[in-house]
Amino acid sequence: MDSRDLEALKDAIRSIPDYPKPGIVFRDITTLLRDAPMFQLAVAELARPWREASIGHVAGIEARGFILGGAVAHRVGAGFVPIRKKGKLPHETVRVSYSLEYGIDEIEMHRDALHPGERVLLVDDLIATGGTAEAAVRLLRSLGAEIQAACFVIDLPELGGARRLEALGVPVHSLVAFQGH
Ligand code: AMP
Repeated sequence: MDSRDLEALKDAIRSIPDYPKPGIVFRDITTLLRDAPMFQLAVAELARPWREASIGHVAGIEARGFILGGAVAHRVGAGFVPIRKKGKLPHETVRVSYSLEYGIDEIEMHRDALHPGERVLLVDDLIATGGTAEAAVRLLRSLGAEIQAACFVIDLPELGGARRLEALGVPVHSLVAFQGH
């Protein structure tokens, strides 16, 4: 991506200080999604390395990962599978729990969403500590998926999430980075 596109993409993301709590700068992608050229650019750049990569499925993390992941799946000619918060999927599920700053959370997939050996891309809007994405990697691997990469519009590199995923053997592809939390 050239530097003008990169700056335009960054400018399309709205930063909201002290949301949802003091000290956090919330990176709001609704302003990017509503802007047709920016939405197209983000999806094209997320998908670019994988267009000829025989990706079977894109797995998107609820909820913003559904919007981006569905579009990326369409672009790379893959199917889409949802990774949801617990209790939302109607059929038999597999589940993993992971720690949040306060307490734990759980994510689920349908047990029959993927078959062993399928080539999968993981997509979400943002990687911070990497806790959510790491849980998603464990879930996908429990179904035997071969994760090709994890793709994010935004990386917050100071929080170390990308390093955490790479330590698990998952390459990370992100478009823009912001300093701080
Ligand atoms: P983490 O598990 O710490 O990598 O957090 C990633 C998840 O939390 C993603 O699904 C993000 O959408 C959300 N998230 C974390 N930090 C932020 C932030 N500063 N702005 C917007 N979303 C965030």
